Amino acid sequence: MPQVVVEPRVRGFISLTAHPEGCAANVREQVAVARAGIAGHAAGHINSVLVLGSSTGYGLASAIVACFGYGAKTLGVCFEKPPEGDKTASAGWYNLAEAHRLAREQGLTFRTINGDAFSPEVKAETVRALRDQIGPVDLVIYSLAAPRRKDAQGNVWNSTLKPIGAPYRGKGFDLRNEAVTESSIEAATDEEIAGTIKVMGGEDWAEWIMLLREEGLLAPSARAVAYSYIGPEVSSAIYRRGTIGRAKEDLERTAHALHRLLDDGKGGGAWVSVNKGLVTQASSAIPAVPLYLSILYKVMKTQGSHEGTIEQMVRLFRDQISPGHTPEVDREGRIRLDDWEMAAPVQTVVEELWSATTTANLALTTDYAGFKADFLRLFGFGVDGVDYSAPTEVDRPLV
Ligand code: NAD
Repeated sequence: MPQVVVEPRVRGFISLTAHPEGCAANVREQVAVARAGIAGHAAGHINSVLVLGSSTGYGLASAIVACFGYGAKTLGVCFEKPPEGDKTASAGWYNLAEAHRLAREQGLTFRTINGDAFSPEVKAETVRALRDQIGPVDLVIYSLAAPRRKDAQGNVWNSTLKPIGAPYRGKGFDLRNEAVTESSIEAATDEEIAGTIKVMGGEDWAEWIMLLREEGLLAPSARAVAYSYIGPEVSSAIYRRGTIGRAKEDLERTAHALHRLLDDGKGGGAWVSVNKGLVTQASSAIPAVPLYLSILYKVMKTQGSHEGTIEQMVRLFRDQISPGHTPEVDREGRIRLDDWEMAAPVQTVVEELWSATTTANLALTTDYAGFKADFLRLFGFGVDGVDYSAPTEVDRPLV
């Protein structure tokens, strides 16, 4: 079995390697936060949960809260790279290997289907797994963040992160050189807008919910939740008014349509939860977002309101979507977990620091060190208590 000293190999916004022990330690930490956050606060019992996009970021945190916070039988679907010889697996693989191990140790159920969630094959495999092992689900979390989608007809669609109508010219951040830059991104074509909506909009979420419903795999009063983002004015040309924003609008419209289908007057329904901007593999790839997040972290940590993915998901489950709670929504029907991020005392300071930040003062005006540490932690690096000089087994099964 390959024992290897694993070091980060960062290329732009990903690391080509992941540390199995570091990822495992991250998961154990999240489990502890979920347990502490839910203990004594669970208004109702959740029997079983399906999480689409369960291996990293918001989906992983959702699955951890469901399984370890509520004891729910949890089935996740994700798209991760297994280990190969002495090459490491992707971080999500190791995250789930540890989540499975912990669940087994604690007599809980946590299962995973690793494959393309957009495909009919993985949908069919999920239906079989639910039927045979888990039963109808009380909650479906949709947390996919994907660069492309092959739809049921075999067409391949790509997601892009571009402005619409006019090019973006403004601040950016070069992760390779750690420099604040003037970046310029051309406006999206109609095809790029359509592609992004196909990948990150609501169509696939609706396909999942319709399929589960037809197969009798939604429990009475089941709830469905998908994740969205709005973000500040400084990123709006690229994010909310850009291609991805169009996809999120589509996702939000889909929530309304699915809500009409699932609302049984007894708690069932579908919602979009607008989550806080955080360092994840998906968000690090969005232009200007690493700089915004570094500033946001600085401000929210100073003001004492900073949260990570697991704290956000504890708040979502505990206060909004677990049985016994009626989600509190804004005028568009969205749950707003980004309330602390978007609060005026936070955004006013963020805007000032956004204008003032240059490469030279980055360490003073932003928490770039915190951003970078969180980024490396996504891949299991820089985690307290892990001996990075020791060889570690990289061939860990997902059982
Ligand atoms: P992430 O990259 O950490 O996670 C994406 C997940 O999707 C992973 O589990 C991955 O394996 C899975 N996945 C990707 N392609 C797949 C495929 N074809 N089949 C099966 N699984 C696949 O991303 P994240 O940042 O946690 O984003 C999740 C959702 O939360 C997205 O909708 C995102 O827009 C939203 N969101 C993110 C932020 C943020 O700042 N990170 C903020 C608000 C909302």
